[in-house]
Amino acid sequence: MKRSFLISFFFILLGCGQNAKNHNEYPNIILLIGDGNGLSQISAGNYVMNNQTAFDRFEFVGIIKVHADEISLLTDSAAAGTAIACGKKTKNGMLGMDAEKNELVSILEILKEKGYQTGLIATSTIVHATPAAFYAHVEARNEYELIASQLMSSSVDFFVGGGEKYFVEREDGKNLMVESKQFEFVGNLEDFQSSKSEKIGYLTHENNPPSLLEGRTPTLGESLSVLLKKFDQNKPFFVMIEGSQIDWAGHDNDIEFLISEFKEFNQAIDVSLDFAEKNLSTLVVATADHETGGLSVNNGNLENNTIIDAWGTGGHTATFVPVFSSGYHAVKFSGLYENTEIFHKLKNIVSH
Ligand code: MG
Ligand code: ZN
Repeated sequence: MKRSFLISFFFILLGCGQNAKNHNEYPNIILLIGDGNGLSQISAGNYVMNNQTAFDRFEFVGIIKVHADEISLLTDSAAAGTAIACGKKTKNGMLGMDAEKNELVSILEILKEKGYQTGLIATSTIVHATPAAFYAHVEARNEYELIASQLMSSSVDFFVGGGEKYFVEREDGKNLMVESKQFEFVGNLEDFQSSKSEKIGYLTHENNPPSLLEGRTPTLGESLSVLLKKFDQNKPFFVMIEGSQIDWAGHDNDIEFLISEFKEFNQAIDVSLDFAEKNLSTLVVATADHETGGLSVNNGNLENNTIIDAWGTGGHTATFVPVFSSGYHAVKFSGLYENTEIFHKLKNIVSH
């Protein structure tokens, strides 16, 4: 009697141990990066959206320092993407490499090694700096064809973004969409959804997708919803979603362009947080790589949801940007820290 009790107790312990080792211990990670989406961009979006956005739903807020390296305060999206994805500050223009050109390992690559499924979604080309920081290792961000080749043999399982021409109209004459042994390429989200392939790419546009004002489809939220269904629920996943064109609106100092791109990014956050509410072993982190345009919200009117915008530059600024987090391990993202810490915080979650 006593012995059988002990044995069952042992098996209960063993059972707990097994549960602890499955994907419930390693959380799903949804990382949203609004390119150029600083605090003023979020403030502008908030007031235009009647003082309520998906950002209100987050549990914790942190702040990151975005300077590129010890010399340059201003960062581009390649250095900032590398800092977030690979945990090291580097020279502007470089991707997945430190300033001495040593290849770095990205969080996506580390998570893949830990058994994660991985995905990237962007509203620029998929070979653009921000998404590329998670899989490419090149000295110059504009080596798009080389970056496309690197994507084909990368740790990325699913991707949605523009830039088909870098895969098919190449200087080396290769057609990666035909020659890739790893990836199945699909032409729409329905086929993405129904495909049984383990690696799927959807190149949404020839070059950069148009802006939302010009009618871009699919939206970030739509692509993310498909990917969230795509991931096998028996394994954890990591997905990075980039609101790429928030930055371009900032460069143009164009508030209408900015607000439309912000609203789309905001909706992707809602999709992420809705998922996290139903799937408790999920961490959602939303941040920016830097602020663009030196935007300030000078005044406005909450009754008719208008703002008066003013801009300080056509480029990036070195102003700190916020990090919002919810879900499993989310508290670790509060505080004021370097952008490189996002990589280390994510890595620590899976370092046992
Ligand atoms: Mg970008
Ligand atoms: Zn920019």
